[in-house]
Amino acid sequence: MKILVVDDQQLERRLIEKTLTRLGYEVVTADGGEAAWRLIQKEQIRFVITDWNMPGLDGVQLTQKIRSSELSGYVYVILVTSNDRSDEIVEGLYSGADDYVTKPFNPAELEARVAVGERVLTLEDNLVRAKNQLEKLAMVDSLTGLMNRRAIYKFTRGELERARRIADPISVIFLDIDKFKHINDTYGHLVGDEALKLMAQIIRKRSRTYDGVGRWAGDEFLVVMPGANQPDVRKAAERILKGVADTPLVLPNNDTVQLRASAGIATLQKMTNSPTLLDDLIQAADEALYRSKSLGGNQVEENSL
Ligand code: GH3
Ligand code: MG
Repeated sequence: MKILVVDDQQLERRLIEKTLTRLGYEVVTADGGEAAWRLIQKEQIRFVITDWNMPGLDGVQLTQKIRSSELSGYVYVILVTSNDRSDEIVEGLYSGADDYVTKPFNPAELEARVAVGERVLTLEDNLVRAKNQLEKLAMVDSLTGLMNRRAIYKFTRGELERARRIADPISVIFLDIDKFKHINDTYGHLVGDEALKLMAQIIRKRSRTYDGVGRWAGDEFLVVMPGANQPDVRKAAERILKGVADTPLVLPNNDTVQLRASAGIATLQKMTNSPTLLDDLIQAADEALYRSKSLGGNQVEENSL
């Protein structure tokens, strides 16, 4: 781990640096608060040991600067001070420092306090990782790995806003497996799950990387195509249905099941400022899908707004 040691006195700086280097830490140094602040903004520094009394930006002010800025992660700060009066230590801790050592410092104490700081930073890392994992889980459909309904809805809203800003068209495709209940009833839910996974793969493979693909519900999928107009989206939907027809589901006993799907497409060519546009677009595609189903399925129907 990299530790930034800040002290205007070269001797003091060296002393701490030597102690830390001996313990295996990577040390960078700064001879004052300003220099330290520049380093913190430039480099990934998560641990600072700073002298309190320095000309210019002092240790407490540096700590306040760190706390009030939007740095990417938490920075653990130890104040080194000869101010060992308890009211001064209280002030130092209130400024946002996590801990302090008093000069002249005892190397074993510094080592122990740095270890505490490392523990705190490790806890923070674990928390951030858990939070990211939770956020990811909250956006991903666990069966297919596609965006879940919430995520694809959010994606569509973002793309719609972008399309409006740059006056671009946007299209969506609603897809639904034909007679999916029959697959579940005949081969069981596990095979049904495999059919959903296969469908997800087929759609993903036949969509462009910047298209959004999500599982809307059950056997319904939503594809969002930024920049696509009516002929583009029709071609894409037909390509997906052809992909479904060309890719049978292989069962564990090597029998195959032919999937079919229906699609409803909708394009928004001209942008208005209506706030309900997103739901209108999705509903238009859903209505087209319904029409495709009532015409016997395995086809693409369209709606425009
Ligand atoms: P249609 O041709 O009109 O689309 O009829 P369908 O049989 O496909 O019926 P519908 O789309 O209404 O039914 C969806 C079914 O999907 C109902 C539900 O039991 C099943 N289902 C929903 N989620 C899952 C899942 O995660 N796994 C499996 N295996 N089945 C699911
Ligand atoms: Mg269905």
